[in-house]
Amino acid sequence: MGKPRVLVGYLVDGGSEAAIIETGPSKLVEEYLSRAASQLDTGRLGWSLVSHVHLDHAGGAWKAVELYPDLRVGVYERGYKHLVDPSRLAGSAREALGSVYDVWGDIRPTPPNNLVGFKDGEAVNIGSLTVRLIGAPGHAPHSAVWYLEDSRVLFSGDALGIYIDSGATRFVWPTTPPPTYDYDLAIATIGKIKKLKIDAVCFPHYGYSANVDEVFRLIDEGFDVWFEVTKQAVLDSWGTDVILEQLSKRLPITPLLKDEYLRSLILMDIRGMLDFQQKKMGVKNGYKT
Ligand SMILES: [Zn+2]
Repeated sequence: MGKPRVLVGYLVDGGSEAAIIETGPSKLVEEYLSRAASQLDTGRLGWSLVSHVHLDHAGGAWKAVELYPDLRVGVYERGYKHLVDPSRLAGSAREALGSVYDVWGDIRPTPPNNLVGFKDGEAVNIGSLTVRLIGAPGHAPHSAVWYLEDSRVLFSGDALGIYIDSGATRFVWPTTPPPTYDYDLAIATIGKIKKLKIDAVCFPHYGYSANVDEVFRLIDEGFDVWFEVTKQAVLDSWGTDVILEQLSKRLPITPLLKDEYLRSLILMDIRGMLDFQQKKMGVKNGYKT
């Protein structure tokens, strides 16, 4: 969806009822919902299951229920309040995202009547299918993933990073936005997710893979590179250019940097990870920007 390609939507069709994974951002939600609804034979679109309350995932929740007043939006209980009153969320998103904020569009309050908060481990029946929310903090405190038990498919939200499959090359980089990113929690979450029986991983950014062993190897590699390079950056006071150069040596990010949107995402993820490293090491402003 979108230009540039910002998000992949997934439809869970349980026969009598269906769910879309994420609502997507408000600028894309109308197109996303009508495309999803047109795929259904007889069932109705009853749910949108959002992984967390960042704008590209749930920023369109308010608009989705405006367009489909019976739609229920399932969200991790930790993120519930941010959809009811998104003022704080919108403020920090504007700060972290800069110009990317406008690519996604505004977030407004979602009526509580349409919202259902889920606890870690709680499941919902979508027609004949069962989808379970699993708390997945790290990317954000309110981050979760959804697990379709029947076919063992994981909808990974942002918990496992961004998956790039360009045919010849596949890699993952962790998405680590400031100010609340917590690498240690993210790694603990990956350990928790690996214990599930998974046959395919569906990344909202960008695509799915049924080669689960490879996916988790790429995740481990990508997270490790991001950690090592930013740690060295704080210790040696590297500027952004040196950080990008060092990352490019170990992950094939160079082609992505030519795209303005992807470049700004990568720069945001560097800032978030530097923040985390500084907090962890007790350093303040110890790096050049
Ligand atoms: Zn996110």
